[in-house]
Amino acid sequence: MQVPYEILGKVFVILAIAVIISIFVALFIGAYSFRCKKILFPNFVLFMLYLFYGPAKWICRRFSIRDTIVDEILIELRNALMLEEFKKKEGLKVIFLPQCLRHPDCKARCDPIEGYQCKRCGKCDIGTVCKAADKYNFRVFVIPGGSFIKKILRVYKPCSCIGVACYPELSESMQGVAAFMPVQGVCLLKDGCFNTEADVEAIIRKMEESFV
Ligand code: SF4
Repeated sequence: MQVPYEILGKVFVILAIAVIISIFVALFIGAYSFRCKKILFPNFVLFMLYLFYGPAKWICRRFSIRDTIVDEILIELRNALMLEEFKKKEGLKVIFLPQCLRHPDCKARCDPIEGYQCKRCGKCDIGTVCKAADKYNFRVFVIPGGSFIKKILRVYKPCSCIGVACYPELSESMQGVAAFMPVQGVCLLKDGCFNTEADVEAIIRKMEESFV
C-alpha cells in the first residue's frame, strides 16, 4: 500500500496551524483574564499553556513580548481557581520558600527532609515570613530544590500550601502540587540563584486570606 505522503503533509500543516492559533487564543484569553481580573475559560488556557509551554514562550519572544507572561498567566489563573478551596482548608498549612532568599552569612542547618531550619537571625526576609507564619498558623520550609517538596508532602501531609519561587519554577511546581492540595503562588521580586528578594507583603496577604 502506498503511503499518502501528500495527505499526511496537509494534515500535519493543518494541525500545526490549528495548534498555533489555539496557543494565540489561549495567550490572549489568559492575558485578558490576568489584566482584567476576570477569569475566562481557565481550564482551556491552563491546558494549552502547560501542554505547549515552550512554543507559547517562543511565540511571545518572536513578537517581542516578555515570555514570563506565560508563567504569570499560569500562576494567576491557578491562584484564582484555587483561592476558595485554599481559604476553606483546615489542617497543616505550609509555605515553601526557596533557599536563594537566605542571607550569604546564613547559619541555618540543612535537614535532609525539611530543608534549611531558619534561626530567625533577622538578616533576611525568611525570618520575617517565619514570624508572620506563627501568627497565621503556617509552617515554613526553606527548601534547596523541588525534590524536597515531595518529601515534605509525604512526611507532613499538609492540607494546603503557598509556594514562592521564580516564574518558571513556580508555574511548574504549582502544576505538580495542585493535584494534591490547593496552592497559591507568589513570585519572587528579584530572581536568580543568589541574593533574591521575596514579596513579603504578598506572602503575608496570602496567609491572611487563609486565616479569615
Ligand atoms: S533569617 Fe533565617 S534564613 Fe535568613 S539568614 Fe537568618 S537564619 Fe538564615
